[in-house]
Amino acid sequence: MKVYNTLTKKKEEFVPIEEGKVRMYVCGPTVYNYIHIGNARPMIIFDTVRRYMEYKGYDVNYVSNFTDVDDKIIKKAIEEGVSASEISTRYIAECKKDMESLNVLPATTHPLATEEIGGMLEMIQTLIDKGFAYEKGGSVYFRTKRFEEYGKLSKKNLEDLEAGKRIAVEEQKEDEMDFVLWKPKKDGEPSWVSPWSDGRPGWHIECSVMAKKYLGDEIDIHAGGEDLIFPHHENEIAQSEACNDKTFAKYWLHNGFLNIDNRKMSKSLGNFFTVREVGEKYDLQVLRFFMLGAHYRSPLNFSEELMESSKNGLERILTAVDNLKHLKEASQTTSVSENETEKLAAAKEYIRKFENAMDDDFNTADAVSAIFELVKYANSNSDAQNSKEYLDSLYEEIKRLCDILGIIVEKEAEILAEDIEKLIEDRQAARKAKNFARADEIRDELLAKGIILEDTREGVKWKKA
Ligand code: AMP
Ligand code: ZN
Repeated sequence: MKVYNTLTKKKEEFVPIEEGKVRMYVCGPTVYNYIHIGNARPMIIFDTVRRYMEYKGYDVNYVSNFTDVDDKIIKKAIEEGVSASEISTRYIAECKKDMESLNVLPATTHPLATEEIGGMLEMIQTLIDKGFAYEKGGSVYFRTKRFEEYGKLSKKNLEDLEAGKRIAVEEQKEDEMDFVLWKPKKDGEPSWVSPWSDGRPGWHIECSVMAKKYLGDEIDIHAGGEDLIFPHHENEIAQSEACNDKTFAKYWLHNGFLNIDNRKMSKSLGNFFTVREVGEKYDLQVLRFFMLGAHYRSPLNFSEELMESSKNGLERILTAVDNLKHLKEASQTTSVSENETEKLAAAKEYIRKFENAMDDDFNTADAVSAIFELVKYANSNSDAQNSKEYLDSLYEEIKRLCDILGIIVEKEAEILAEDIEKLIEDRQAARKAKNFARADEIRDELLAKGIILEDTREGVKWKKA
């Protein structure tokens, strides 16, 4: 499997640090509003990378943070007259709902910046002790020039960067290239006690600390949108490598921008659609499918036209899957004929194409084309005369490839509210009859369908897990 590494600007063979394991960190969103579909691009892309790695047999430890303390969160809290944590808690919950609608798997760990302050204080202190950081007026800064390899990811050199800088805003810094690790609080801001001031962390330190805590000093993959290459990821490398004396991440993966009219979609430009807005018009699977239709490193223009064509493309796959299901039900023969065996063997060609595409730096666009080819093949090579087993194999192959991309071809039958109520009644009756085994069985049955029962004073209540 080859992956494009921003650090070396080359496609490289993927060799994990520890055999069979992948330690992966993806920078997550700052939570002060609903996420827009630009933010959804890295979520969908790196979730697909993770799913493919798991398909290949790797045990993936996937960490993605929520930045829950930041100027924008504080500003929004002041506007609404609520606490910053109320804002971040609300939008983390909303973001998780969007992720679920996009079929993005929950990370192994979703750390929150505000819950990792202890680790940040420790790392900052280590950096001070090693001479890589200094305190001035309650702030702590990273001494950028002390880290000799600064610029290795973004291929920027310090002289050029300095030339591009205007008048230093924070005059107390020793050097204008230094960046902040800790800053004293302003009135009304959330703050934590530290040896330097009551204050809060700079943005970059959280990712270095969380990656270290949840994945270790050396990780396999660090990922995010390409806007993070500089300064965020460059600064993360400086902090982590100066602190740990180890190469921080082996492979750096960056997705291209989601654009509108060839301009980056962003909150500050105001040219964005939230995932929620798009979800009102389309099944969000269509959005996922649209994102996968382009290579992750290429810029991608969002347009109604492309969404419509993604919708039609997805529909073609879903229809083929549905047809196979119906044919399977109608089929009268069970055993696979010789001719069918040959046909199934020929269909493997599309699986190979799919894998070759994904092995080539996660070329989801070509992987989707391979699925289309398989769908076409299945459409023209299946009818009610075929055996159940043959039809089922074709069905399963398409489903499996779609699963790897996080595309759901068949929704699990949803349990209806009235069926839940009926089972709850049965459970109450079983309890009354002291048939506790049956009562527990019903509880477990519902749990398996994602329904949790709560015995309250007002009776039994249920909720979705
Ligand atoms: P933010 O909340 O701005 O820190 O962004 C969270 C993630 O979304 C980061 O990985 C960004 O690089 C990514 N991102 C933001 N806007 C876009 C966009 N228009 N296209 C692709 N990725 C984006
Ligand atoms: Zn980060």
